[in-house]
Amino acid sequence: MKKFSIKDLGVKVGLEIHQQLATNKKLFCNCTPIESDEYSIKFQRKLRASKSELGEFDPAALFESTKSKTIMYYANPQSSCLVEQDEEPPHELDEDARKIALIISSALKSNIFSEIYPMRKTVIDGSNTTGFQRTMLISQGGFYKVGEMKIGIQSICLEEDAAKILGDEDSVRKYGLERLGIPLVEIATEPFEVELEQIKKIALSLGRILRSTKKVKRGLGSIRQDVNVSIKEGGVVIEVKGVQQLEQLEKVVEYEAERQHGLLIISKKLKEKNWIYNDEEDKKNITELFSKCKSKIIQNAIKKDQKIFVISFRNMAGLFGYSPYEGIRLGKEVAELVRFFGIGGVFHSDELPNYGIAELDIDNLREKLKINENDAFLILAAPEEKIHIVIDQIIVRIEYIKNKGIPIDTRLATQAGETKFLRPRPGAARMYPETDIPPIIITKEELEEAEKNIPKSWDESIKELQTKYKINPQLAEQIFDSRYIELFEKIVGKTKANSTFVASTLCSSITKLERSGLNSDLLKNEDIVKSFQLLEEGKIAKESIDIIFENIMSGKSKTTEEALKNASIEAVDEVELEKIIENIVEKNQEIIRNQKERAMGPLMGIAMKELRGKASGEIINNLLLKNIKKKLDSS
Ligand SMILES: [Zn+2]
Repeated sequence: MKKFSIKDLGVKVGLEIHQQLATNKKLFCNCTPIESDEYSIKFQRKLRASKSELGEFDPAALFESTKSKTIMYYANPQSSCLVEQDEEPPHELDEDARKIALIISSALKSNIFSEIYPMRKTVIDGSNTTGFQRTMLISQGGFYKVGEMKIGIQSICLEEDAAKILGDEDSVRKYGLERLGIPLVEIATEPFEVELEQIKKIALSLGRILRSTKKVKRGLGSIRQDVNVSIKEGGVVIEVKGVQQLEQLEKVVEYEAERQHGLLIISKKLKEKNWIYNDEEDKKNITELFSKCKSKIIQNAIKKDQKIFVISFRNMAGLFGYSPYEGIRLGKEVAELVRFFGIGGVFHSDELPNYGIAELDIDNLREKLKINENDAFLILAAPEEKIHIVIDQIIVRIEYIKNKGIPIDTRLATQAGETKFLRPRPGAARMYPETDIPPIIITKEELEEAEKNIPKSWDESIKELQTKYKINPQLAEQIFDSRYIELFEKIVGKTKANSTFVASTLCSSITKLERSGLNSDLLKNEDIVKSFQLLEEGKIAKESIDIIFENIMSGKSKTTEEALKNASIEAVDEVELEKIIENIVEKNQEIIRNQKERAMGPLMGIAMKELRGKASGEIINNLLLKNIKKKLDSS
């Protein structure tokens, strides 16, 4: 196995950022984009193999159509209407979305078109009820700077977000319509060649430019990154979708570059072996032959009336398991492809005997296929109507790797920072004009307006936050990058709460609770505001805020008021507090006698346990200190 050095590969990376805009309406209707899992409407569509309206053939559509699926849509009338259900034509383009898109284009010095043509982009996975996504090219070119680096912009589009996937159940896929139609800008950068460590910074900077407009959505799912990766020798750009966190970016790029280079090495080996496939000789039905095979997967397949097939690969022994870099194997490429068709059972000769497939089974196979130890084979179990399509696709893929190198896929980032096969790259026939919406004319006045509204740079925004609210730079960055920046300004403006305390509560306290598995989506802005109001009115202590948040985020309470009751939080007045503290000191004279001033530690623990959320830690601390001293003086 080679030691992999990414520096020698000439890796080029391009980013594609999808950012939801914070508008009150959706892009082409009046619905409010609110998240809710209450669905009163439910309807179903059969997924059809769609030819685009220009009549050209789309390979990705063909591919997807081999997986027959029923799509079930769930809708809430508060967040969707007949437009989302494809029962009514789209309304006019939302004014706010149009303005924000122009501001973002201006901020990135991108050349805005004077006429914008809404297009339909074919979508075949059911995530749009219409079978297409509406998209508009707003501008081309432009750049932004990251330190000394200048990152070029390719294009900026305004488009509709897709429906939210709720899950798969057998051959039914479920989507919720609340997200469908939310305005989204898609920004594609020019490919750049940088050190791996810089990629995150480049993506982060672009995200910060977008957030500086204060007109984009925050929080989970509101920004998504795709990344395009190519290596010099490979000559193809591979699109990797769905990078969830910036932390994943570096890993994903590294893995994908490694995979691409690994495939080139495998390609060379395939050429050396001079492998050629013969459909007649190399594909055999072995359902009968394997009827007594001990493998559970094989037996389950036979029970389900599936067929077992074997494909032989002459002179290819060792190649499926060969791994030029760790985790990069031809066998893995095949397994991913097969899984895409919803088929679990595929074995290659380099991993056998294993999984219940015995030496005897293999001998029988070799005899039937007239092959020997120098040859490789794949065993596949699948429903009869699928198996030949899948085998064809496997052969096409391996032939492609042999003759051309890296297959042009669309891939998906995994949590572990790898990439896996998602579908073949769609052809150019995916776009065609949207005839329901007239072209959009951008006036000179609009352009000037957008120029005027270009936001301050991120650095300036951070400095402004620091001075205006007297918070430290680190906290200013944290609150600016969080989804609570607007809320923070509102709370600090409305109440006399200490800005540092508010900012760190919104950043660290909520994050801490999230990390312990609680759901911050349950905590509504109005309840956060309410909590700080109660604090200001002296009705609760500082410490109670965390308790309220915890109570709501864990689902025990729905509102701040409920949380107050459920967690029995009420501030005690000073007279009563003093009494409680005196009582604690009285009860623990023993500790005070033994430990003198150091009794403070254990007693504070006792007091906090009794008074958690009822008085501030600072006041308790002072009262305890005073009373312990008194006790020591009098003894
Ligand atoms: Zn609607």
